[in-house]
This record gives sequence, structure tokens and C-alpha cells, in this order.
Amino acid sequence: MIPKPMMLGAVLALTAAPLVWSQTAAVATHAADAVLGIAADGSPGIDSRRWPQTAAPIPRNPSIEASVADLLARMTLAEKVGQIIQADLGSVTPEDVRQYHLGAILNSAETGPDGNIRAEPAAWLALADRFWQASTDTSEGRAGVPLLWGTDAVHGHNNVLGATIFPHNIGLGAAGDPELVARVAHATAREIRVTGLDWTFAPTVAVVRNDRWGRTYEGYAESPALVARYAESFITGLQGRPGQPDFLRGEHVFGTAKHFIGDGGTADGIDQGNNLADETELRDLHGPGYVAAIGAGVQFVMASFSSWHGQRLHGHQALLTDVLRKRMGFDGVVIGDWIGHAHVPGCTPERCAQAINAGLDLFMAAGHWRALHANTMADVSAGRISMARLDEAVARMLRVKLRAGLFEAGLPSQRPVAGEWTMLGGAEHRALAREAVRRSLVLLKNRQALPVAPGARVLVTGPGADNIGMQAGGWSMNWQGTDTSNADFPAGTSIVDGLREAVQASGGTLVHHPTLPAQLPAADVAVVVYGETPYAEFKGDRADVDFKPTEPLATLRRLQAAGIKTVSVFLSGRPLWVEPELAASDAFVAAWLPGTAGRGIADVLVAGADGRPRHDFVGRLSFSWPAAAEQAQVNVGDGDYNPAFAFGFGLSYR
Ligand code: BGC
Repeated sequence: MIPKPMMLGAVLALTAAPLVWSQTAAVATHAADAVLGIAADGSPGIDSRRWPQTAAPIPRNPSIEASVADLLARMTLAEKVGQIIQADLGSVTPEDVRQYHLGAILNSAETGPDGNIRAEPAAWLALADRFWQASTDTSEGRAGVPLLWGTDAVHGHNNVLGATIFPHNIGLGAAGDPELVARVAHATAREIRVTGLDWTFAPTVAVVRNDRWGRTYEGYAESPALVARYAESFITGLQGRPGQPDFLRGEHVFGTAKHFIGDGGTADGIDQGNNLADETELRDLHGPGYVAAIGAGVQFVMASFSSWHGQRLHGHQALLTDVLRKRMGFDGVVIGDWIGHAHVPGCTPERCAQAINAGLDLFMAAGHWRALHANTMADVSAGRISMARLDEAVARMLRVKLRAGLFEAGLPSQRPVAGEWTMLGGAEHRALAREAVRRSLVLLKNRQALPVAPGARVLVTGPGADNIGMQAGGWSMNWQGTDTSNADFPAGTSIVDGLREAVQASGGTLVHHPTLPAQLPAADVAVVVYGETPYAEFKGDRADVDFKPTEPLATLRRLQAAGIKTVSVFLSGRPLWVEPELAASDAFVAAWLPGTAGRGIADVLVAGADGRPRHDFVGRLSFSWPAAAEQAQVNVGDGDYNPAFAFGFGLSYR
């Protein structure tokens, strides 16, 4: 596993090829660029008037504005600069927050209280109190601005031991149910609040166009309409509705629409890569999620690591300021991605006036916060960042905090639902996760193999059958989701455990063999659970969409040769080319990355004692399924659209 703090270096090494640029070539090219509407930095120009206008749903509140002005007038330069820096938990203490006035912290998926990512939930809440106390210290004339703690709760509160882990977004996309998504978001918000945190870096509103991308599963769909509808639901579930008394309070937390803009459309699906769409496509494919998110009152938008025509989003003034801020009317905070400012030409992890000047309001500085603080102060003092621009960024941080009532909220442990440990991974949320799993399953093939009949003799095998980490995928207990055991998911049930319960309840028997024994047991049907092993961003990119492992196919063929019906339960973060496995399966279920609620699989696969399905398959593909290993980019609406299974496909029992 690449520890996250090293990732930036690795990426820079891959992308650092310098451009060779001669003076005469530059002059000639600039003349042509002017005609083509290409900006001087090499990327096409943006005409923000062509983008949708959104009226921010939260009117300016005079008393909040007065408080912002009052605080700004009292804050020192060091306090202001601290406000626009977010440090990673692995590199910062409450005393640092007090001393440097940091506006925010995050726990990357590799850090937890006292360096322990498996810390007890109570340790998170206790630490949240300590950070809160440090930030609100008003001694020696400090403004005492409460800090925000953000986390990647991208499918449930997935970094905290015992939390409910919901299906990754690709599965929710297949469920096609915005109301379900709102409930999932609300349950996630509650679990975050139980541990005293304020904010999640979700939802991802990427419209994924190339399934080689290792973040495909973080996207809901390849089509913008579903993404936009879900963005609205998810944000409302997390934050509540603007204008309501519990907006951003009580059981609600801040959300973040990410990664602005075009992250799902990079060439060849390369993570942090280059999006080459024209402006119309950028707007119409990758923009609608943001319009919907802003309309729902999202308070944070995260800039993308990626580039548009070679220009990094973290330094893209036309997109961050002219489009997002001015045209779309976003009045919350533009947060950077993990040290993402360092990719902007001329910047380093520890200095980047360019990003702030382009429209970034909050650096995700991770471990580089201390030097960044000093250098940003120097940049303001030297006029490389104007005081007006700094004040504007700080004002946005203060405004969202005031909107959430953070100045009066008191210690995290004293707020609603904090410390209600029975809610974390509790029965109600587990039932919701199970429902979400049921609804996310897409049946691609069924030749009388499903549902599993009452009294059946069932053989379960495959590497995913008893592996909650594999069910959960990346962003589960750690960044890449690797090196976990079932014990890391106390709220979880494996797929085989769910199947065993259901099969026994309908009078059948189940045997589980992780791999097939030399002597096959007598069985009517075999459920083979296999697929991708966990990965997350960067590490999860692949060269094609060929599902490579050969063991599952050999298993399926052996079972079929023995006259046993075969059911494939395929765990994956994206559709993959599985033609041979499909051919060797009597039934094939795309189960995506269902998370901790393994019982949701059995709910649909195993009939009740009366022989009738207990739940039907309702999932439909929100990503087109490839018909060839090279068909990584197959999207509904393509001129030569020719997938194995089309967008919207999915069988049912009835
Ligand atoms: C990812 C973001 C995430 C951030 C914080 C980055 O590497 O791109 O999606 O929110 O890390 O962990």
C-alpha cells in the first residue's frame, strides 16, 4: 500500500515531464490561439456566460454578515491565514491548532486518534472535544474561531470502527432511488455526529466516462441526469434543507461536492489526469452535479486534482471563480484536494499563492500546513495575495461556520446524538444498508438458477464469500481498503453468513468452501463470490476492463461440469468484461461493492420457504457493461453504442 502522504511525490514523478517551449513557436502559436479562443496558458478559454446560473438557496443573513465583518476586523494576519489551512490529523495536535489558529483539520483515511485508525469510537469524540477547545481559546485576544473536522465518509462513516458501511456510489446508482440516497446520507451524517465530527468530503458527483479509472465506483453513473438528481438528494440528506431550523445542525453535517470539475472525464480514465472535453461537454456532462449541489445548498466544493486541457483545476481561475463562484452562484468554500495545490505550475506543497488567487479558499495542506502557513503569510505581506482576496476566503470559512451555528454549538460531545454509540452501526442503519444492498443488485443473466429454492443444497465458494473487506472495497477502514479482516467490521455480515441464514430458514443446507475441495460435495446450486480486490484512487486505475483472474472461471466450469447450477456474485467497482464467466454461469449478479450488509445479497437470491422470492431484483445498470476488454469507454448516447448490457439493463424475477 502507498501511504497517502507519499502519494503526491509519486504522482509528480509520473507527470513531471517538462514542456519544451521556444520563443518563436510561442509567438506563432499565440496568434493562432487567439483565433481559436485558447487562453495564453494553453487551455481553451471559458465563456462563463454559457454556463448555467444558479441562485444560491441561502439568502445573505445580515446578522451573520455583521459577525463576519466583526471577526475579520479583529483577526490578525496569522489568524486569517490559519483559517484557510486544513491540516491532517497525523501531523497536527490541538496545541498546534491553538497556536496557528487553523480553520480545519481532516483525518485522511490513513490517520485516526493517536495514530490509530482502528481507535475506539469514543476516542474520536474525545479528540474532537480537545480540538474544539483549542480552536475556541480566546485568551490573549484570539478570535477563537471554532474549527471544522472533515472526513471521507464516502459510503457511511467508513473510517471509524463499527460504523455502517453502505454500498459504494456505483451500487446506489444502480438502485436508481433518490429517496434511498437521501436516507443513506442522513444515516451517514448521524454516525458522523455520534463521533463529534462536522463534515464529510462527499458526495462525489463525477460523471464517469472511462471505467479504467480507479475511482469509477465513487461515481453514481455515467450519465449526468442521475448524478445531478442524486447530488441533490445526498446533500439534502446530509445537511438538511436550507431555511429549516436543523439545516447543518442537529443530526446534519456539511457535505462537499467533488471534484470540480471533469474528474470523471480524464483521457484514458487516468486518475488526476487531463480532461480534453470541449467547453460544451464539460458544462453539459460534468457540470450538472454542481448545479444541483449548489441548488441544494452545499457549503463546500472540492477542486479536482485533474486538469482541463492541461491546466490544473486548482489554478483555474476561469472555472473556480468565473464559473463556479460568479456564474453558478456558489457562496460556500472552495476546498483544495489533498495537497492538490502543489500541482499548479510554480507551486509546491508549502507555497501556492496561485491557487488562492484563482479562487481556492481552503488549502488541504495535509502535513505541510506549518510551512504553508508561514509562506502564505509572507505572500500576503508581499502583496502576492491581496488582503482583499484573503479576507474573501476567510469570510467564506466564517460564513459557513456561522450558518451552522458553530459558535454556539459547544463541545462536540455536548451536541445532539454525540456519543449515542448504539446509533453507530446500529440496527436501524444496518437495516437501511441491507435495503440499499438489495436494491443495488443487478441481475445480468438467469437460466433458472435463481432464486435458490427452499430445501436446496447450496455450495458457497470464492474469495469474496467470507470477506467483508472485499465487499466494502476502497475507502473502508483505510484508504485503499486493503489489509483488513472481518473483525475490522463489527457491524458487518459476510455474504456467506447472510446466505447461510436465509438458506437454513427456508429448509436448505449450506456448505462453504473458500476454494473447491478435490471431492465436490453434493449440491444443487453453487454461489461463487468473486471479483475485484479493494483499491482506491490512483492505485485502482487499470489498463483495460478485462477481469483477469482465471480461478473463478475454472471454478465455475468445474461446477457446471459436475452438473451443479452456478450463480456468480460479482463484486466490482466498475463493470468489467466477463464474457467467459457469464457463459459459465447459470445466473450472474453484479453486486458492486455492497459494504457491510452482506445479508442484502441473500435477501434477493434466496427464496422464502414458500418458494417465492422474498425480494425481486430492482437494480438497473447506471454504467454500460462492456462487450470487450478494450471497451473501457462505452457510454449511453455514444454514436457507436454497442455494450454487452446497455445502460438501464437489469432482469427481474417477474
Ligand atoms: C481525494 C479526495 C479526498 C481527500 C481527503 C484525496 O486524495 O482525492 O477525494 O477527499 O484525499 O482524503
